[in-house]
Amino acid sequence: MNTSTSHDLFTRALPLMPGGVNSPVRAFASVGGEPFFAQRAEGAYLYDVDGNRYIDYIGSWGPMIAGHAHPKVIEAVMTTARDGLSFGVPNALEVTMAETLTRMVPSLEMVRMVNSGTEATLSAIRVARGATGRSRIVKLEGCYHGHGDSFLVKAGSGALTFGLPNSPGVPSALADLTLTLPYNDLDAATALFDAHGDEIAGLIIEPIAGNMNCILPREGYLQHLRALCTKHGAVLIFDEVMTGFRVAAGGAQQLFDVVPDLTTFGKIIGGGMPVGAYGGRRELMEQVAPAGPIYQAGTLSGNPVAMAAGLATLELVRQPGFHAELEARTHLLCDGLEQAAADAGVAVTTNRVPAMFGLFFTDQKVDTFTQATACNINQFKTFFHGLLKRGVYFAPSAFEAGFLSAAHSEEDIEATVDAARHAFREAAEA
Ligand code: PMP
Repeated sequence: MNTSTSHDLFTRALPLMPGGVNSPVRAFASVGGEPFFAQRAEGAYLYDVDGNRYIDYIGSWGPMIAGHAHPKVIEAVMTTARDGLSFGVPNALEVTMAETLTRMVPSLEMVRMVNSGTEATLSAIRVARGATGRSRIVKLEGCYHGHGDSFLVKAGSGALTFGLPNSPGVPSALADLTLTLPYNDLDAATALFDAHGDEIAGLIIEPIAGNMNCILPREGYLQHLRALCTKHGAVLIFDEVMTGFRVAAGGAQQLFDVVPDLTTFGKIIGGGMPVGAYGGRRELMEQVAPAGPIYQAGTLSGNPVAMAAGLATLELVRQPGFHAELEARTHLLCDGLEQAAADAGVAVTTNRVPAMFGLFFTDQKVDTFTQATACNINQFKTFFHGLLKRGVYFAPSAFEAGFLSAAHSEEDIEATVDAARHAFREAAEA
């Protein structure tokens, strides 16, 4: 596979941008080698600047659930852009977006648009703190909520990949206000709330963790956290930046039937444009400026082009059978990967929900952070490169979930499993 143009671009980028990239995991630092540079994307495929095609299981890290460059999304963007890129006054698409989100996710009574998942989570904990008058927040080990100071404590995603779960630059006075819990440990949560319940403003969790690979909540776990927050007067925040509209039209909260007080979104609601949102119970959201005293603002928030891309994507997501079809394809892929690994004599296990999956190099079922981090990383790296050179792009980190889109056909999945058969054989020798 010729990747010389990507190599030249990366060589130019390295002295100019930290790690040569604008977001860490893209640099391939944890898997070795160099990233490829995208030329364009369509449906399930990414094409690099050297003309190579990859079946893409990242989908821009989540937004592309309808497939890359979906004609309806592109058309909505082009049509809207012709009327201007940003107005600084309200526009009708913002109202349609708020109506759409509150209809699709019943726990959202009010919503505020922002520009990234990071902004959404930062704002949500400000609301939790402002509304409760308390300072401490609780997060789960291995969960990632963007790069806000309060969240870079035992964080997942790139922070975990690069061994930087507690980042320098975060004042300890602030980090100390973040309490952490092991994911899926009910007793630890009870004990923490028993000890600190009246100091806790809120608990934030990925209701399905996707930033320490993919880990599902144990039966009753989210319900347990809901009960603890209610009992102790803390705000329960579901970070559905990844799971929102992906695992079900109403997100993980619909899948598990648990109602949070606040929810954060990103990725899919922007259809590939930079967007985030947070929302929830009216009495909380009415405390946000200018309706209330908790300040949060954004020059480009509610951007018309971003709203248009998001609305077009959400319309596709709402089509009958959309998630059922994706769920079937996710099973097809994960079953195929497990079989291919077994044939190659490599121990793997998968976790899956509709359109989202995790592949772990271990013979145990994984539902804790400790298990996720104990997997065979060397085998993962060999497997990753084995797929890449055969035109299949999985996340360049053992700690990221994989994503499917509606554009991934059964043929794409068969081709992926075929490539995986070879890659697992190579991994067996790693
Ligand atoms: N929360 C979750 C669950 C995420 O997965 C991410 C990003 N991967 C974020 C928050 C941060 O979103 P952004 O990168 O848009 O700031």
